[in-house]
Amino acid sequence: MGKDDRLQHLGDAFGTNPFDDDHLHEECGVFGVFGHSEAAALTALGLHALQHRGQEAAGIVSFDGAHFVTERHIGLVGDNFSKPAVIERLAGNRAIGHTRYSTTGAPVLRNVQPLFAEFAGGGFAVAHNGNLTNARTLQRSLQQRGSIFQSTSDTETIIHLIATSNRGQLIDRFVDAMRQIEGAYAIVALSEKKMVGCRDPLGVRPLVLGKLDDAHVLASETCALDIIGASFVRDIDPGELVVITEDGIESIRPFQAARPRFCIFEYVYFARPDSIVEGRNIYDVRKRIGAELALESPAPADLVIPVPDSGTPAALGFAQAANLPFELGIIRNHYVGRTFIQPTDAIRHMGVKLKHNANRAMLEGKRVVLVDDSIVRGTTSKKIVEMVRDAGATEVHMRIASPPTTNSCFYGVDTPEKSKLIASHMSIEEINAFIKADSLAFLSIDGLYRAVGEPGRNGTTPQFCDACFTGDYPTRLTDQQDIETTRQLNLLAEAV
Ligand code: AMP
Repeated sequence: MGKDDRLQHLGDAFGTNPFDDDHLHEECGVFGVFGHSEAAALTALGLHALQHRGQEAAGIVSFDGAHFVTERHIGLVGDNFSKPAVIERLAGNRAIGHTRYSTTGAPVLRNVQPLFAEFAGGGFAVAHNGNLTNARTLQRSLQQRGSIFQSTSDTETIIHLIATSNRGQLIDRFVDAMRQIEGAYAIVALSEKKMVGCRDPLGVRPLVLGKLDDAHVLASETCALDIIGASFVRDIDPGELVVITEDGIESIRPFQAARPRFCIFEYVYFARPDSIVEGRNIYDVRKRIGAELALESPAPADLVIPVPDSGTPAALGFAQAANLPFELGIIRNHYVGRTFIQPTDAIRHMGVKLKHNANRAMLEGKRVVLVDDSIVRGTTSKKIVEMVRDAGATEVHMRIASPPTTNSCFYGVDTPEKSKLIASHMSIEEINAFIKADSLAFLSIDGLYRAVGEPGRNGTTPQFCDACFTGDYPTRLTDQQDIETTRQLNLLAEAV
């Protein structure tokens, strides 16, 4: 089953299209603690704070001085790591964890991270956020050399590259592996004596360093430091590898220096609003995005209404800049989970409003600006516009707090294939007609750059990875090119 089929299948099974809601379905969160007697409990809390980065599965690996202990489960962190017995099993003063939504690999337990391997030099656990763009190609050559893969996760490629490296020390083998992979990664790994943190040379995915008493902490976002009371030390730099031992922390820069390209969509949508990423508070940036949008594309309206929760900070920024009242005209049900199966087909077909309902008292007779962070397939916007109109709004002006999403992400963000992205094949006017709004506008790419505090996209040297909006992929897409070549060859073969 392909990724899109799988998403559709999940959506059908649970009565929800994954892109219909504002739950996050992408990426992963990584976390690690070194040098604390309650390492596993702290890791469980850290993962809980990172739950928005992946709700499909979570895992923790600890080392108790003699053995590695692994707990990996399908489901939410709170459902699997809140029992004292589980945490007690994860003994030791060092642990790493991962929360996952599968961007590659099927949603089965053998793909749940951290992945663990017993090497000649000892055990090693790896947790990875991001996506490798040459994993398939590397996997094939590793398999030809005898590697046997146990999962379909691209992270296992890293394990095999370490295992087959001809270097001596584990860290050298790890660096050797990292130099062969392409794509985006923030990695936290654990050996018997070391915890390792590493960001890809472009720093596409985030990773921060924190401190709790004498313990070192690594986390995808600062909100995971806050939950355990750890202080923020600094971002791990793009291309930096930190090695944490009982003697302290050492920083290595094993890659050729490159101009960083942090993922701009973390600011638009992924990261939690209370996190500080690369020196910027996410909530603050989202409000500025809304303000830019109001300046670029004002609308004749009485109210600004967010599509909750993803559009809320941008809608606030829009309302303040436009000097319009901000109201909650759509109410979100926070208790809709994947376990909610609609009882009968008849009810499913009634278009039951599982997640959002219009707040009629706010909308009746009003001209409204609706703000959401992004349009992917267009289904959410279409549904919400209709709902707001049915509740009596006289005009609905849709404003999107990012540029049109025209390209798939190959760096760990769960986007459908390009042909399913509405903006890849429809003009703004056509999308407006499809969602049946009175007007539709997206933020410009320069407006987005201004909102994050940069002068603009700056010609050919952009400061972010914005490939989903521009198609400018900052790394090679080896696997994609390979897939395309195979497709072309198959077409040729069919033709002759
Ligand atoms: P769609 O209905 O397909 O246009 O999806 C748009 C909605 O999906 C917006 O409300 C976004 O907040 C949300 N969204 C954007 N990117 C993603 C993603 N990668 N995974 C899940 N939801 C997303």
